[in-house]
Amino acid sequence: MKMTVNRIRVVVLGSPRSGKSAVVVRYLTKRYIGEYSSTGDFLYTHRVAFDGAVSEVEIMDTSNCAIRGCLGEHVRWGDAFAVVYSVCERRSFLAAAELLSLLAQTRLPSCAAITLLGNKRDLEHAREVHAEEGQELSLRFGCQFYEVSAAESCAGAALAFHALLREARALALLLPAPRRKLAAYSVSKVIGTIFGKNSKSVRKKRPSLSI
Ligand code: GDP
Ligand code: MG
Repeated sequence: MKMTVNRIRVVVLGSPRSGKSAVVVRYLTKRYIGEYSSTGDFLYTHRVAFDGAVSEVEIMDTSNCAIRGCLGEHVRWGDAFAVVYSVCERRSFLAAAELLSLLAQTRLPSCAAITLLGNKRDLEHAREVHAEEGQELSLRFGCQFYEVSAAESCAGAALAFHALLREARALALLLPAPRRKLAAYSVSKVIGTIFGKNSKSVRKKRPSLSI
């Protein structure tokens, strides 16, 4: 049987040390190695089959892109976004809120699949952000939400990525390519103005889970 192949580009965003690389490596290799290079962006490509079709998935594990000035480029490039914060670092949660705000303002609603990932849930004693706050933020922006621990298990990262890819594929089928391309606009302008401001609630409730 001939399978359809579509391409899904996933961008992983978030504060330094929130565990972006750990989550990506967990998803791709099922392994956790503890320390990861943070010298630049890494692009991983793999094929996944689900729901009877194959997708060519490109995952961009970013590093300091807000500072290095490539955030706008990543936002335009991606079809799907995983915004990672550490549940042990409130600052990373605030940065995640800013990133969601940026995505909401630069992509038309429903033109990008987005998931919010609260990582390091194994460090309960050091928790600074409650699960309810992550849930509330995801409701404000109408994105998916998962609390995960890259250190503790594969399940959370796998579930979160599969759900994100499923949504991205659904959007790709619903929206013709030219319109999707048009949907990303004025990214650099918005980046320059929104950080520090809150965005209003715009979208509907999505599933969420702690793993
Ligand atoms: P990045 O800069 O966002 O890519 O973060 P890294 O993936 O490099 O992780 C930063 C640090 O947090 C590393 O020392 C990781 O070992 C650690 N780390 C990542 N995920 C977890 C987790 O789920 N639990 C714990 N306890 N540590 C984690
Ligand atoms: Mg990294």
